[in-house]
Amino acid sequence: MKPLVSMRALIATGTLVAIGILVFVLFSVREVAPAKKTELTIPIVAQVIHKVIGKSVEGRNLDAYVYGNGPTHLMFVGGIHGGYEWNSVLLAYKFMDYLKTNPSFIPSNITITVIPSANPDGVYDVIGKEGRFALSDVPTVALPNGTGRFNAHNVDLNRNFECKWKPKGTWKNKIVSAGTSAFSEPEARAIRDFVQTYSPASVIFWHSQANAVYASECENGILPKTLDIMNAYSRASGYTAIKKFDSYEVAGDVEGWLASINIPAITVELSTHETVEWDRNLAGINALLKYYSPQN
Ligand SMILES: [Zn+2]
Repeated sequence: MKPLVSMRALIATGTLVAIGILVFVLFSVREVAPAKKTELTIPIVAQVIHKVIGKSVEGRNLDAYVYGNGPTHLMFVGGIHGGYEWNSVLLAYKFMDYLKTNPSFIPSNITITVIPSANPDGVYDVIGKEGRFALSDVPTVALPNGTGRFNAHNVDLNRNFECKWKPKGTWKNKIVSAGTSAFSEPEARAIRDFVQTYSPASVIFWHSQANAVYASECENGILPKTLDIMNAYSRASGYTAIKKFDSYEVAGDVEGWLASINIPAITVELSTHETVEWDRNLAGINALLKYYSPQN
């Protein structure tokens, strides 16, 4: 009797079944094998937009760093008096680092711009280094008083704005150049143009070393909001609030110009020329954020 299935056909069928099982097992294993663990740690950092808002007399960049995207825009400016007040620039850098690593610090209705170094030629006079510097770059030798305060045209930039401007300004018991006209200096024009483009709700200038926070005015008295933010910053930081700077006459200051166009501005003076005083200023900044974002 002939077998129903030949031995050869049986072997062929068996081989096919075996191959089928093997393929099935291989594919099944591929499917159920756990995905390889990938250690993807995405650092949570704030988005920052870097803008070059102008060039100094010697061609150095005037940088602005913008964080957040709320409708209320707060501006912080360090170093308008250059290397003479280098600690105000380091404070601005410290603030930028803090914003970068603490994105939730900025309430949703707020945008913050930091212009860390408004007079980079003056910083270069003292630090001798391009771009961002650290405390370790600051020379320890004593320099003649006032070194690095002016821009490369020897102009005091905080006398070059349009508020009672005149060609000669005063700094303590000295006569200083205020430029050939209001806004004759590229560094002053860069701040003017940025302010006119972005209409900040208020502007905070960091200086040293009067250990105080000052209001601002030009011809029409102090804006009510200027008084509010001066008092808020002062209470939180411990810098003495002073409504009117009267140690000597100041004309052409940027804060006065801002007052003249209805933008509140305060001047925060650190207590020495060497200290950054981050904790005090962080408390002051927090108070400003509470003022402009009361729901937070
Ligand atoms: Zn100053």
